Amino acid sequence: MTVSREHISQAIIETCLKMSALGLNQGTSGNISARYQDGFLITPSGVSYEKLTPEQIVHINYSGKAEPDKIPSSEWHFHLSCYQARPELNAVVHNHAVNATAVSILNHDIPAIHYMVAVTGTDHVPCIPYSTFGTQKLAESVKTGIRHSKALLMQHHGMIAMEVSLEKALWLANEVEILAQLYLKILPVMGNSVENIAERLPVLSPEEMQKVLIKFKSYGLKA
Ligand SMILES: [Zn+2]
Repeated sequence: MTVSREHISQAIIETCLKMSALGLNQGTSGNISARYQDGFLITPSGVSYEKLTPEQIVHINYSGKAEPDKIPSSEWHFHLSCYQARPELNAVVHNHAVNATAVSILNHDIPAIHYMVAVTGTDHVPCIPYSTFGTQKLAESVKTGIRHSKALLMQHHGMIAMEVSLEKALWLANEVEILAQLYLKILPVMGNSVENIAERLPVLSPEEMQKVLIKFKSYGLKA
């Protein structure tokens, strides 16, 4: 069954509105995309979600060429990286959610403080190094990071979540925000200093996380 462009564009808009309703989006900073034909469809630059129409959603092919007369989100480069790095996944959600962004400013990975970190497909939520938004350098960092984890924190920027569908990508983004919130709640209890916090945090063992990752794989997760 082939899904029409109109249908996917509408689903992207609905996912944007749900992202706002979840409180994950700050202003017009978020952007969302989904695979379509020889590339992907992505939200345009600087249009508020409430005013978005399916006709405004922009197609970009795998060579990075956008269709004429439309301006894609300025962050389309790292969306392209995601599709190149993970051929089995089909949708990307990006936002500057407050808690995830706060952890990214500390430049910390979220370690295995809770078994739900396994939603990333690994045992932590990695934080990738800072590069200016919209640059090829940032896109390269995302490409490297997303190969190992379906969700990333981006230093001094925000987060990315990639999944098989728009619905699951948004669900993953929300889970990451909850994990970030948990992490920030634990930090003050660990003392005033963030020095060596990674060594001092109580975390699940690599063996336990391995167990959880295997369970996640075999049972699947409901979005
Ligand atoms: Zn951004």
